[in-house]
Amino acid sequence: AHILSGAVMDPRALNELIPDWKEQGAPLNVPVTEDKFLFLSETGAKSVPNWALPDNFKNHGNYVISLANVTRWLGQQAEALGVEIFPGFPAAEVLYNDDGSVKGVATGNLGVGKDGEPTGNFQLGMELHAKYTLFCEGCRGHLGRQLNEKFKLGKDSDPQVYGIGIKELWEIDPSKHQPG
Ligand SMILES: Cc1cc2nc3c(=O)[nH]c(=O)nc-3n(C[C@H](O)[C@H](O)[C@H](O)COP(=O)(O)OP(=O)(O)OC[C@H]3O[C@@H](n4cnc5c(N)ncnc54)[C@H](O)[C@@H]3O)c2cc1C
Repeated sequence: AHILSGAVMDPRALNELIPDWKEQGAPLNVPVTEDKFLFLSETGAKSVPNWALPDNFKNHGNYVISLANVTRWLGQQAEALGVEIFPGFPAAEVLYNDDGSVKGVATGNLGVGKDGEPTGNFQLGMELHAKYTLFCEGCRGHLGRQLNEKFKLGKDSDPQVYGIGIKELWEIDPSKHQPG
């Protein structure tokens, strides 16, 4: 419901999942035609020759996409297979069985005022029970952190590390735009 980013997408996983994605109308329309990697300084920019870049910076065979369009399309494919999607409902709580295993999640209550009291739009959260519950909250989900703590998931792992990436959206003169 709130995917905004543009991205460069490697279609490898999509090729495996939905081999005929092109015929199915997946919105991957702009193949990458040129890569540039620049070091910016106060006095100018130095470009790095493509052969000197690690593979993950080489984008030939990839697509420049709108992530909003691609996730919307993927959502439709999942719904066509009978998957129910509840965009806009956060999972607020992990539910457990008596034996301590995960039973599912509960969504948060909607329509609660700033004072914590229910408003006229109040709607009680739902309990969703499942045989398997997959948590994919991103790199630092709040339920994920609780599960980490409870099941000691990080016990034999290196500490989690983070990097910050910044994207800038530029509006340019359309005559200067070159797809890919
Ligand atoms: C600036 C930037 C640029 C990037 N550019 C690219 C790129 O061009 N190409 C590329 O391949 N990768 C790119 N990446 C990396 C890529 O975006 C991530 O690796 C990828 O999105 C991680 O996927 P994920 O499913 O683990 O988590 P996310 O994409 O973070 O998805 C987690 C989702 O769970 C939702 N969520 C969290 N908690 C809850 C909850 N309790 N209940 C319900 N929903 C919840 C979040 O709202 C989110 O939608 C970029 C990353 C950044 C930060």
